[in-house]
Amino acid sequence: MKCQELLKALSEYVEGGVDPAICKELEKHLGDCNPCRVVVDTLKKTISLYKNDEVYELPADFKQRLHKALQEKWRQKANPHSDDASAKKD
Ligand SMILES: [Zn+2]
Repeated sequence: MKCQELLKALSEYVEGGVDPAICKELEKHLGDCNPCRVVVDTLKKTISLYKNDEVYELPADFKQRLHKALQEKWRQKANPHSDDASAKKD
């Protein structure tokens, strides 16, 4: 399972329609992908917050923000020193 696939499965998971087999894949992916684990952790907290308020509905922009946060983390993971690259050019 790739990070993108996890994100897709995650929205199904949130909506309560995820396949148990996918769920296993999801957990397996989380076992060795730290950025995704952080995102899922945040997601779980958000869900429980909403549950406490008895409004089990994610904000409209939540998925977008989730996606953005994930992409940011993947970018950092793939290229941790990307900020230095242009500065070193002299
Ligand atoms: Zn991942």
